[in-house]
Amino acid sequence: MTLVVKIGGAAGNEVDPVLPDLADRAGTVLVHGGSSEIDRLGAALGRPSEYYTSPSGVVSRRSDSAHLEVVVLALAGKVQTDLVARCAAQGIRAVGLSGVDGTVIRARRKEGARAVVDGRVLRVPDDRSGTIERVDTDLLHLLLGAGILPILGPPAVTATGEIVNVDADRVAAHVAIALAAERLVFLTNVAGLLRAPTDPGSLIHRVRRTELASVLPYALGRMRKKLAATQSALDGGVREVIIASSAGPLPIERAIRGEGTVFA
Ligand code: ADP
Repeated sequence: MTLVVKIGGAAGNEVDPVLPDLADRAGTVLVHGGSSEIDRLGAALGRPSEYYTSPSGVVSRRSDSAHLEVVVLALAGKVQTDLVARCAAQGIRAVGLSGVDGTVIRARRKEGARAVVDGRVLRVPDDRSGTIERVDTDLLHLLLGAGILPILGPPAVTATGEIVNVDADRVAAHVAIALAAERLVFLTNVAGLLRAPTDPGSLIHRVRRTELASVLPYALGRMRKKLAATQSALDGGVREVIIASSAGPLPIERAIRGEGTVFA
């Protein structure tokens, strides 16, 4: 039974409780983001993250070529290597992969990203972000078959060998679909989808696949991307998607038992 777990990279996410919970889960793929590490490293290198708002109101980090270097260093260099080392301390054999390795995540460059600047809609220059086209599962199957935990994150690679940035939540959804996973668990820095983002007591416990559109208005900012990824995973055949907190002991187990928001 295949399980995909995605751990968030925003501030407030906890990794320590997640790793012991991976120890006895054969057939699991761990996907990671790393937004706070990208911001930290970018600032340290004198390349602070810049954000833009699309005409439809979605806020994205700018991915020009200089910034893409920071993404590669932060995710494939730092976040992933740290996760593999911390797994080793738990007795878990893991291999870190970016989407470029083994062409696991194939994407095409996005064309025509637009930003609203001072009320005007402008083309985003030198945009190195991509749209995921397919997941090549060969390498993942090879690792899973050998009892090794694959730890996978952005970026992705195009057919012509360009590196492009992709959203980690979308990576998780595409991987779950490609592996015909039964479940996809998003562990994050909040208890799940909240009616009021600052009130943990407003957790929405269960959402049917057909009702997802009705809860979209509650999601602001980055949570919108998580719900878009949730929708595509459910549409792609994943039976259950859970958004739950990374904090506290055994967060994967608790998410599977229904703590958090369950989309099914
Ligand atoms: P991660 O890095 O863990 O994937 P994100 O920053 O991508 O986390 O998404 C989680 C964030 O989404 C929360 O910290 C919260 O600020 C924001 N958010 C916006 N709307 C909601 C909502 N309705 N319920 C929960 N979180 C929300």
